[in-house]
Amino acid sequence: MTNQPVLEVEKLKTYFYLEDEKVAKAVDDVSFSIYPGETVALVGESGSGKSMTGLSIMRLVREPGKIVDGTITLNQTDLLALHNREITSIRGNDIAMIFQEPMTALNPVFTIGNQITEVLRKHKNMSKQAAHKKAIELLNMVGIPRAKEIIHEYPHQLSGGMRQRVMIAIAISCEPKLLIADEPTTALDVTIQAQILELLEELKGKLGMGLLLITHDLGVVYEYANRVMVMYGGQIVEHSHTKQLLQLTKHPYTEGLLKSIPNMEVEVDRLGTIKGIVPPAYQFPKGCRFSDRCPYVMEKCRESNPDLLEVASNHEVRCYLYEEGAHGK
Ligand code: ADP
Ligand code: MG
Repeated sequence: MTNQPVLEVEKLKTYFYLEDEKVAKAVDDVSFSIYPGETVALVGESGSGKSMTGLSIMRLVREPGKIVDGTITLNQTDLLALHNREITSIRGNDIAMIFQEPMTALNPVFTIGNQITEVLRKHKNMSKQAAHKKAIELLNMVGIPRAKEIIHEYPHQLSGGMRQRVMIAIAISCEPKLLIADEPTTALDVTIQAQILELLEELKGKLGMGLLLITHDLGVVYEYANRVMVMYGGQIVEHSHTKQLLQLTKHPYTEGLLKSIPNMEVEVDRLGTIKGIVPPAYQFPKGCRFSDRCPYVMEKCRESNPDLLEVASNHEVRCYLYEEGAHGK
């Protein structure tokens, strides 16, 4: 790992402007960086702002959503300052994103080969022949058997796992410096999930990419992530190295997430779930966004939202239980 992060996100805010002047703060003051070769997991329940964080980095947020503040720097390039034409060239070349359901991202009317070669011809100016050859290489690289035949097939002819491999082949075709994987295995069965994650891990090593792994599955985090950011209500509430975060958990929300999964190799006293639901992003409680669901809620938690503070070495938490002078749970 070098000292230069591949990606730096600073105080990012992505808001949705809804009817009745409601504003959904999908991403609200999020800062983090990713170094080359590193896997950083972004975890949290559905609706916490994970996808919008990824889409903001790609500059793919659609109306009524808008990036309203912050900076996103990819290898010293300020992505938010780029014109649409420039960002289109960065997308695919330098950053790529894969999604949960590859069927929606693949075009059903074109063959697998067409879709891979199109990217190569557009971004790499390759001849038809060279692109075809490279497409077969890429399919081999992502572990697709019979690549020479598959290249002539259509997305619907492949299994979910194979389609995800094709998406990964397209994503890595231009050797991006950063890959954003948004719940890449959620739609797949458990054995295939593991294979896809192993593949991402292997490719990350080969290409020296940074990987932002978005997931709601802490088991996946434990296996694959170097660092973890836990997101709730559009904000990062806890951030640390994976082992530290999972074994010396501080935020009550992270604790709740851990308790809700069985068979983790971390000690939990009981199985449970977090009461309540993620509040809609246009209606957070006044103080801490988790205060309505928190088993340790104190008076001040209902009054103001705590800052994300480093409470131990390389361990940041957004919670009044860990303010200076407070003694935790
Ligand atoms: P996650 O990926 O963590 O499940 P998202 O990033 O997709 O969550 O969404 C975060 C929040 O952003 C949602 O809870 C919702 O309030 C808001 N949001 C997302 N997409 C839209 C949209 N198209 N219109 C209005 N609000 C949206
Ligand atoms: Mg999502």
